[in-house]
Amino acid sequence: MTDHIVVLGAGYAGLAAAKRAAARLRRTAARVTLVNASSRFVERVRLHQLAAGRRLAELPLAGLLGGSSVELVVARATGIDLAERTVRLDGPPYELRYDVLVYALGSGSGGEAVPGVREHAYPLATADEALRLRARLAETGSVTVVGGGLTGIEAAAELARPGLRVELLTTGVAGPGLSARARGHIRRSLALMGVAVREHAPVAKLGPGTLLLDDGTELPAETVVWAAGFAVPALAADAGLAADGHGRMLVDASLRSLSHPDVFGAGDAAAADRRGRTARMSCQTGLPMGRYAGEAVADLLTGREPRTARFRFVWQNVSLGRRDGVTQFTRADDTPLDAVMTGRASAAFKEAVTRSTVWFLRHPR
Ligand SMILES: Cc1cc2nc3c(=O)[nH]c(=O)nc-3n(C[C@H](O)[C@H](O)[C@H](O)COP(=O)(O)OP(=O)(O)OC[C@H]3O[C@@H](n4cnc5c(N)ncnc54)[C@H](O)[C@@H]3O)c2cc1C
Repeated sequence: MTDHIVVLGAGYAGLAAAKRAAARLRRTAARVTLVNASSRFVERVRLHQLAAGRRLAELPLAGLLGGSSVELVVARATGIDLAERTVRLDGPPYELRYDVLVYALGSGSGGEAVPGVREHAYPLATADEALRLRARLAETGSVTVVGGGLTGIEAAAELARPGLRVELLTTGVAGPGLSARARGHIRRSLALMGVAVREHAPVAKLGPGTLLLDDGTELPAETVVWAAGFAVPALAADAGLAADGHGRMLVDASLRSLSHPDVFGAGDAAAADRRGRTARMSCQTGLPMGRYAGEAVADLLTGREPRTARFRFVWQNVSLGRRDGVTQFTRADDTPLDAVMTGRASAAFKEAVTRSTVWFLRHPR
């Protein structure tokens, strides 16, 4: 019988997994089907640029899959039946049977727990959200970015322009995972761009045109960009796959589900343990996870023990607009070293890495 591998999600992780599995299994009868809600690949790492008015490259999935045997199904997965080994879809063919499933549905915007976010904030996790924010920017005089992680910092810097007041609010410090040198550069760079940074300012509630901090301070907030963390789809947990408290599928060292050995997980939607810590949601993590998941699936179907996913971090890249940035060099476990690269060199480096990511997705071998 022909083995059927179904990969859910064609982001950085799912696309790499599907292409890698297909390449490794090319001499077998195995089929790989990649399911994605849209026919285009979304470069999520550039969504702050899209919101700021930049045009992004058109990247049809059919083009990125060119030369591989992966079959693309454009539909939204609505449920997984683990007993029957089927995935339900909202469009043709409506149902897919799998022998091995790769779960790589990524993440979307978070913040559901904070009252008013859903009604009043502009999230930045999908292309549609970025375009909605872009339209809003044409009619607003001030923006409050909530979230001092890398996405919030990048968004604040990218959106800053003369005539627009930009403030960044964050629960702790801006860039908590970075070294003091990197944080210092970010503070100075944002100040030069006119971005006000308010640290230790957790947001308790959003209202129309205002926001309330935990300490009771009320601030005017004409346009709030919510960049305070991502949330994952509920499909894995709803189906009964072992998942953590945030719904991320729990996987072992081979990226195999802890509860269902015929399911693998990769990218933001899977919680991979990196030396005792859950790897941060990033394309830097998702891409190697996807590649390893594809390899591990091929191992399984060719009678080998699925290999252990081994990847190490080397840097974290933060853009500060188009001409500045911080490259934070890290230990293998992603903790920061004191070494940083800043300025134009860092911006150029990040651009090169972002471009090479798409190149890698075309040629994952
Ligand atoms: C503004 C911004 C800047 C960022 N900058 C960086 C950065 O500089 N460096 C970095 O490493 N990371 C960055 N990230 C994070 C990075 O984009 C994500 O961690 C990465 O996209 C995760 O990859 P993934 O493959 O797991 O998921 P995704 O890229 O989210 O892909 C998931 C795919 O699944 C599809 N999908 C979802 N649900 C369904 C469904 N039910 N049915 C079918 N298809 C579905 C989606 O359409 C999507 O194509 C940034 C994110 C944002 C928003």
